[in-house]
Amino acid sequence: MPQGVIVKALSGYYYVLPEGADLRTATTVTCRARGVFKKKNISPLVGDVVTYELTENGEGTVVEIFPRTSELIRPPIANVNLVVLVFAVTEPVLNLQLLDKFLVHIENTGIDVLLCFTKRDLLTDDHAPESKEMTVSELERITRLYEGIGYDVLTTSSKLHEGVEAISQRLKGAVSVFAGQSGVGKSSLLNEMISGVDLETNAISQRLGRGKHTTRHVELLSLDEGGLVADTPGFSQLDFMELEVEGLGSCFREFAEFSEGCKFRGCLHLHEPSCKVREAVAEGSIADSRYEHYLLFLTEMKEKKRRY
Ligand code: GDP
Ligand code: ZN
Repeated sequence: MPQGVIVKALSGYYYVLPEGADLRTATTVTCRARGVFKKKNISPLVGDVVTYELTENGEGTVVEIFPRTSELIRPPIANVNLVVLVFAVTEPVLNLQLLDKFLVHIENTGIDVLLCFTKRDLLTDDHAPESKEMTVSELERITRLYEGIGYDVLTTSSKLHEGVEAISQRLKGAVSVFAGQSGVGKSSLLNEMISGVDLETNAISQRLGRGKHTTRHVELLSLDEGGLVADTPGFSQLDFMELEVEGLGSCFREFAEFSEGCKFRGCLHLHEPSCKVREAVAEGSIADSRYEHYLLFLTEMKEKKRRY
């Protein structure tokens, strides 16, 4: 039975890209889902790897859904294996608290993440007479901080077409979702990586550029260098509802090697005696900003729990 990936779901139809086919040239098979999914309360998702049966009219039926490696709720996509977390170096001002909040949510899904700083062209020279929001050396410091934690960091400028190759290479073979505030340059970056003059790609460019607040379907798009990307940004709501306070520490990757040594199991790294995480902060092995954000999120989570 043929296999494929669902690249679009719309009004009860699933558009399946046959295995091995190229989305830019191949046509998708328009499928209905088997009734059995409804009974089991499973619905196929964009990103699902499925088997399907061709019907006489050239359409198909989704017969089986392979086990998912990941499942996002917003946007509803299965098998995403990379989140590209996009922050502009400035415009809007780089907010590390928000960045860490996104990271917590991504860590909580277990999906791999690539940090991408956009609008590199807006960096100011350290010796420039008027100091702007973000200088070259400040960005270097921030890059070192996150690389030190173990994150991959790339810097791009869509305006100057810089860093686009590097990110394209990283997205090759992945099913990715872009995340980040509006205005940071996600669509611009995607447009840089999805080119072509045929009608379909023109439509894609328009689609990427259109109003951000219209509700619409999710779709996977094909990148020039390979790989699939969702046309809708992920992690739009960051409200900590799905997280428990005990789990927050493990969403801060660099805490792990220290928290193992904490005296108390389930140490929240607050005021507990012999807390190795706090010691690491005092020694400078964990960045102050990261620990501050940890405390802030912990408070936020506790308040949420109280209110609901
Ligand atoms: P999105 O909301 O994250 O998709 O952001 P957009 O791609 O729509 O970009 C928001 C604004 O930033 C637009 O005015 C873009 O022209 C601008 N922008 C995007 N990338 C760059 C860049 O690399 N450099 C500069 N200077 N501006 C950029
Ligand atoms: Zn501790």
